[in-house]
Amino acid sequence: MSNKLVLLIEDEESIASFVAMFLRKEGFEVDMATDGASGLKLASQHSPQVIILDLMLPDMDGFEVCRRIRHDSDVPIIMLTARDAATDKVVGLELGADDYVTKPFDPRELVARVKSVLRRAQMSAQAAEAGPLSAGEVVLDPDRHEVSVGGEPVQVTAKEFDLLHYLMLNRGLALSRQQLLEHVWGYDFLGDTRTVDVHINQVRKKLGEAGEIETVWGVGYKLK
Ligand code: CA
Repeated sequence: MSNKLVLLIEDEESIASFVAMFLRKEGFEVDMATDGASGLKLASQHSPQVIILDLMLPDMDGFEVCRRIRHDSDVPIIMLTARDAATDKVVGLELGADDYVTKPFDPRELVARVKSVLRRAQMSAQAAEAGPLSAGEVVLDPDRHEVSVGGEPVQVTAKEFDLLHYLMLNRGLALSRQQLLEHVWGYDFLGDTRTVDVHINQVRKKLGEAGEIETVWGVGYKLK
């Protein structure tokens, strides 16, 4: 198995071949599927390191594909969404997608996002050696990739895990949205800070009262 396999699920031939060309030029191997069912099949058969998922597919929508992948995999997912479809982005992120790129996009930007999610995945693998962290009742174990509250396991997506991990490592410090984007998403350019807010809300919901993530007005967030 290659250590840099990207699965591209996109039915528009011209976009798919264009994106695949850019990815291959950067040294990635690319698997391509033109509908949700074959995408899911390739995802489970070939275990790609990253999945690029279009929301508009002929057989089932990308949300359903995302939901099914997340059922048994943490693989980073980057969604391709239509311009201005803000709700699509939010729903996708809530379903566990890691990031999105809005059509029409510059393939170089998409390649940069792919590299970012891979870099993040590698960093969390390294952090796994450091041992569990705790903040009040919340315990995060990077080694087992588990979060618990008061001893009860909590299901979080890969990105929610990374976000909480970064907040815990910097407990008590106010972290700006841009800083969180850089460290948790690996962006080295100005990203969409809405992504941070959506993930923070998800983490808050999942941790309940125990996760004391404060909004720092005009700055960003901090874990008490
Ligand atoms: Ca499509």
